[in-house]
Amino acid sequence: MGGPLFMAVAFGLIGLWVVLLALPGLRRPPPGCEPIICPLCTHSNDAEAKTCKACGAALKQ
Ligand SMILES: [Zn+2]
Repeated sequence: MGGPLFMAVAFGLIGLWVVLLALPGLRRPPPGCEPIICPLCTHSNDAEAKTCKACGAALKQ
């Protein structure tokens, strides 16, 4: 049980697993910066947008 090669592989797998777990969380925009999806045309608007940039519909904040 053990050995340098086994330890290297084990820590490599743990590191890969941690990165895979962390990636979806890093890709998600922080609260308050999520895009607003237009209910009419499903266009993705900025978080500060009050009206849809594609069809001009009012967006609920
Ligand atoms: Zn729209």
